[in-house]
Amino acid sequence: MVLNIVKNATCTFCGCVCDDIELHADEYRITQAKKACMLGKAWFLNHTAEQLYPDALIDGKEVSVDQAVEAAAELLDQADMPLIYGMSNITCEAQREAVALGERLGGVVDSHTSL
Ligand code: SF4
Repeated sequence: MVLNIVKNATCTFCGCVCDDIELHADEYRITQAKKACMLGKAWFLNHTAEQLYPDALIDGKEVSVDQAVEAAAELLDQADMPLIYGMSNITCEAQREAVALGERLGGVVDSHTSL
């Protein structure tokens, strides 16, 4: 059995975004989430460690991440009013990048809290 250990993993379950979680995983499942609270443990332990999907798809076909980023950039560049939406389960640094992208595109930024 293979044991993978990831130190300083980030939990994005709630807004605290704890980034000192130690994850232990076999080929299929995360088996331990050290330093995570009860909610974080439940969240991590119910995720599989196996890769279910390719890293990137375009029209249902597997492509490289670089190809997918290029295609996304073209779509965003052509959009009249792109919406940067979501961001509830990402880090502050990723939120900062999302807002910068929205400003650069002249788009709109919104989060799930507007629902
Ligand atoms: S470990 Fe617990 S407190 Fe920390 S982000 Fe995850 S759910 Fe929130």
